[in-house]
Amino acid sequence: MVLKVTKILAFQSLSGIYSAREFVWWYNGHPDYSSLKPDLKTSDSAVILGQGNVALDVARILLRPTTELASTDIATHALSALKESSIRKVYLIGRRGPVQAALTAKELREVLGIKNLHIRIKQTDLSVTPADEEEMKTSRARKRIYELLSKAAAAAKTSEADPDQRELHFVFFRQPDQFLESDERKGHVSGVNLQKTILESVGTGKQIAVGTGEFEDLNCSMVLKAIGYKSVPVNGLPFDHKKGVVPNVKGRVVSHTSGDISQTEPGLYVCGWLKRGPVGIIATNLYCAEETVGSISEDIEEGVWKSSKAGSKGLMQLLEKRKVKKVEFSGWEKIDAKEKQMGIERNKPREKLVTWEDLLAAAAN
Ligand code: NAP
Repeated sequence: MVLKVTKILAFQSLSGIYSAREFVWWYNGHPDYSSLKPDLKTSDSAVILGQGNVALDVARILLRPTTELASTDIATHALSALKESSIRKVYLIGRRGPVQAALTAKELREVLGIKNLHIRIKQTDLSVTPADEEEMKTSRARKRIYELLSKAAAAAKTSEADPDQRELHFVFFRQPDQFLESDERKGHVSGVNLQKTILESVGTGKQIAVGTGEFEDLNCSMVLKAIGYKSVPVNGLPFDHKKGVVPNVKGRVVSHTSGDISQTEPGLYVCGWLKRGPVGIIATNLYCAEETVGSISEDIEEGVWKSSKAGSKGLMQLLEKRKVKKVEFSGWEKIDAKEKQMGIERNKPREKLVTWEDLLAAAAN
């Protein structure tokens, strides 16, 4: 079938295009996104932009059999919609090659292990250059990812085709240029125009994607953008706009004015993505938090700063003053217990409460 389409500029909005964050919040039952209603029924194809772990997470939700999803803590509205989904082909688009894919091995293995899933990777995309070899020599993780992808591509070649099978296409060396608007369904996405890329070394062993000026269209009825995150500045705090972090030394915020990293703001600390940038699995964040807490303890012990503030009591007073509605830990525990109880009845680890009203009512009980 030839789809009639109109190319539109990337910044214009079309229905059917979502950020991965919106989609993740939808299937996880975030109250602000539980009514998202992503379009899962217009065609058999979805495109995911990016090849990081978030891209893998959303691909997994689209491709995993719903009989298996049913025993996870996925929100019930999402499970019902996924049961009706017509999406059978998911395209993960990477602007660089399989050696540079931003995935981690454990997460990739989980997706490759999905039942009845056909992995498609073009053989030509798996050929490596001396610069790729060099990258793999300096990173075992990159080498492992490349091996896993090569193995999956080889196994797919020998497997029997099954009409029920779903497909995961790893598309390398392509960067999105424009979203395409359906002529039949005005205002709705019907595909992505992709520019082919090649890699260029930029010293320090890094290779970046450069457009070749050749383009191709990929049809789909849903696009998920999973191209990473960037922190935004916090009023009154120094901010490194290039790295998207608050400059710090082991979590101690570097002084505003001095620019000298030995000068830190007493009593001011940072952790997580605002400290290191938007990278890392859960364990990375645990170590990161430990380091910042270590800095706080050290500073208290060594008398570098003495808090003149009122601690948690002061925070509560401030929240009262600003009339901020708050749920205390005991309220969270009640929500947790209620969700778990509802989960037992449905054979799930928990049944998520997906409206603010239900969450607040559970916390107050
Ligand atoms: P990510 O790992 O930074 O991946 C972003 C992807 O988007 C990369 O493939 C990147 O390609 C691509 N990209 C960025 N800008 C682009 C552009 N302008 N055009 C086309 N492609 C572009 O980000 P993420 O997937 O959002 O994950 C964020 C962090 O959370 C990561 O460290 C991830 O490992 C972590 N995470 C962990 C888990 C887990 O532990 N299970 C789950 C989810 C996320 P380039 O490499 O070429 O820039």
